[in-house]
Amino acid sequence: MHELGVVKAVIQTVESIMVQEKLETVQKIVLEIGELSGVVPAYLEACYPAAVYNTAMEHTELAIETIPGMARCIRCNELFRAYEQDFICPHCGGKDLEAVSGKELMIKQIVGY
Ligand SMILES: [Zn+2]
Repeated sequence: MHELGVVKAVIQTVESIMVQEKLETVQKIVLEIGELSGVVPAYLEACYPAAVYNTAMEHTELAIETIPGMARCIRCNELFRAYEQDFICPHCGGKDLEAVSGKELMIKQIVGY
């Protein structure tokens, strides 16, 4: 599952930040996930508890903020809401599209003490 790799990368990143910032524990992490990032927040949440088990982040709360996917059609310049990775322009049916937002996959905030 793709999401498990993402969770592991997030844990590694947060653990190195904990070392850098000399944080004892991290209370909460906030992830920003775009709807077009290819990551399903529900899957991510599902594999998170197992992934953090026995790590410094075992008791860290995971919060996910989703960012709506918006795409622009290169052919007709239509801007529209896109829900999936493989989408077509609702206006002209074109497939040459660029994602304007929704590709985000990042750690937005780490709440530690
Ligand atoms: Zn179009």
